[in-house]
Amino acid sequence: MANILVVEDEFDINRLICKNLTLIGHKCKSAYDGIEALKIINDEKPELIILDVMLPGLTGFELIEYAGNIPVIFVTARAGLEDKLKGLRLGADDYIVKPFEMQELLARVSTVLRRVKRENTVFSFDDITIDFDKRFVCRDGVEIKLTPKEYDLLETLILNRNIALTRDRLLNLVWNIDFEGDTRTVDIHIQQLRKKLGIKNRIVSLYKIGYRFEL
Ligand code: CA
Repeated sequence: MANILVVEDEFDINRLICKNLTLIGHKCKSAYDGIEALKIINDEKPELIILDVMLPGLTGFELIEYAGNIPVIFVTARAGLEDKLKGLRLGADDYIVKPFEMQELLARVSTVLRRVKRENTVFSFDDITIDFDKRFVCRDGVEIKLTPKEYDLLETLILNRNIALTRDRLLNLVWNIDFEGDTRTVDIHIQQLRKKLGIKNRIVSLYKIGYRFEL
């Protein structure tokens, strides 16, 4: 897990991002203006910066110049293509436009961290190991064969670990179904995952809500 700096002058958004990153195991620092962020970047060398563009002190576009090789994800209300291109040209690893879904931010954080920290491609818990690059799951070195959707569901649960996911949310994230779909599909796949992985107590059923992967 990574030390992440969240630079965002809107207090509630900053706290919400930090809360969610902490829930999945990251360590978070908040900065509410560009000057404060610059000090933390220099003193603490975070492993990833989530960076707003419009900030008091220094803008995100100015601040990224000081980030060196620390990966940056811009989170901004500036949706224009020109701003997006500018952000990416300045070296940002990703660019998210507000308002955004927290799950999308978490997924993008994981992707960027995986890209820069190769060791993070492998995730282990109990006696299970998952190689995200190879989409390979094994127990004590023996492959557990999952269908593509079972694998996608497992990865989604892990990337959002300790966070409650509704069945509709899982349908959206795993099956790309945006309307109220047949949520029994989710239940059936969860049952299969529990059976194949032998991790009944890790995937917790939340009455009338959905599921949470607990670690
Ligand atoms: Ca702002």
